[in-house]
Amino acid sequence: MYSYSIGKIYGIPIKIHITLLIFLPIIALQISAVMGVGSLLWGFLAAFGLFASVGLHELGHSVVALSKRIRVREILLLPIGGLAQLERMPENPDDEMQIALAGPIVSFGLAIVFWLLAMLLSWGPAWLILLLRVIAAMNLMLALFNLLPSFPMDGGRIFRAWLTPRLGLLEATRIAARTGRGMAIAFGIWGLLRGSLITIAVAVFIYMAAGAEYRMVQFRERMRGGFSFDPFQQPAVAPDEEDDNITVSPPPYEREQEPQWRDWLKRSNQKVRKVFDDLFDDWNRRSP
Ligand code: ZN
Repeated sequence: MYSYSIGKIYGIPIKIHITLLIFLPIIALQISAVMGVGSLLWGFLAAFGLFASVGLHELGHSVVALSKRIRVREILLLPIGGLAQLERMPENPDDEMQIALAGPIVSFGLAIVFWLLAMLLSWGPAWLILLLRVIAAMNLMLALFNLLPSFPMDGGRIFRAWLTPRLGLLEATRIAARTGRGMAIAFGIWGLLRGSLITIAVAVFIYMAAGAEYRMVQFRERMRGGFSFDPFQQPAVAPDEEDDNITVSPPPYEREQEPQWRDWLKRSNQKVRKVFDDLFDDWNRRSP
């Protein structure tokens, strides 16, 4: 919702969230101010380079996920970064590790490519060289930042995938999520000190997402274990996580079918309206 599709790559819809469109001028202004460039157009080019890089990072995750036969619902670009929405998480920790590593590897690759381009074009205009260097640096930061063990970011996923064979999925997720929340609190404090709204938003997002994913794993593990009746045990309740909507109806990415209840609602609505129309007609006929 509130996002615009800008195209498809490998059948994956690439979407831009409305908040990114709103924040883009601010981000452009900020990048040009930090780099001491007076031109806002240059800032926009750098911001465009940043979000194109974020998109390619997510595409890296997505391509590896697709190779593991996991569908990717969409890639969403937000001011706080990108999200590749996978239909499900891989069962196998090795697969999770590979999917998580793919993004930072793409970002490292892009950093090298843009750094080389800046060197090759060293005879070119100064603004272009600076732009290429800034995009290279942003990709390097993207790779490093994502590798921090703040679950559910890439580094946290790698950490969990490493813990899972040792401790089991539930305990591994608990430790990874707790570490993620600790990191999120640190980011939040850092963001507050720097007055950076986006850093604070990233921190809040990581904090909530870590908890949500832990609850999801907890729920699944309980379901898998089956129910032994225990009157003092809380029943397992599915967390209302959007990510858990597993769409099995092929083909993917087609418009979703109208749910049956909507059809039913429409029909009963017509029935109700007919009753009122009849009553109204009746009343009209009676009144002089
Ligand atoms: Zn990533």
